[in-house]
Amino acid sequence: MDVVTGHVGWIEVVCGPMFSGKSEELIRRLRRAMIARRRVQVFKPSIDVRYSNDEIVSHADTRMKSEVVDDAGQILTLTDPRTQVIGIDEANFLGPGLVEVAQTLADGGKQVIVAGLDTDYMGRPFAPLPDLLCLAESITKTLAICMRCGNPAKHTQRLVESDALIVVGASGLYEARCRRCFEPGIPAQEYLEFARPRIQARPDAPETGE
Ligand code: ADP
Ligand code: ZN
Repeated sequence: MDVVTGHVGWIEVVCGPMFSGKSEELIRRLRRAMIARRRVQVFKPSIDVRYSNDEIVSHADTRMKSEVVDDAGQILTLTDPRTQVIGIDEANFLGPGLVEVAQTLADGGKQVIVAGLDTDYMGRPFAPLPDLLCLAESITKTLAICMRCGNPAKHTQRLVESDALIVVGASGLYEARCRRCFEPGIPAQEYLEFARPRIQARPDAPETGE
């Protein structure tokens, strides 16, 4: 969405599995907005402090300063009225309230760029991305590379046994898989026997929460 006249807002969504380049793409768009001298604010949920407390960080270690919020409503409170472009990473951790927040900001004339997982560890649509996809002006679906076979990957495979919807972590806990190699939910027993001792030995062993 490059050529726009007047004071009009909109929603852009970047979605896909883990490791598909969502954060990289979000950072790229926000950098371009900064080059265009637009006022930018960046938010991420406080649940995701895996790599940094005050930056969004991609798996390839590109970084951008961000503000941390406990819930979607806080984005509205923290948004400066002069801000023109708002980036939100890890939208899947912010829950259904993000839909109304994104709509309010876009209706108020702001460019809202949202990045997040579109499906969960079971392969199910992951709120609030499905609603945001319907309401957005622009949608980009990013694909990763399947760690089993090298094909384009649309799924996030959980490698540890847990029924919790949210288990925060990255490589070691999750990997990208294509449709054919994806094993929804609890992974195969033989993999668990291989992976569990290695994962438990890691300093960032899994944290769970709802
Ligand atoms: P996301 O935000 O979707 O989790 P990131 O933007 O943080 O993705 O990271 C994307 C980067 O991750 C890629 O540019 C690549 O360097 C790295 N990467 C690691 N594993 C994979 C994979 N299986 N497929 C694609 N990229 C991967
Ligand atoms: Zn595969």
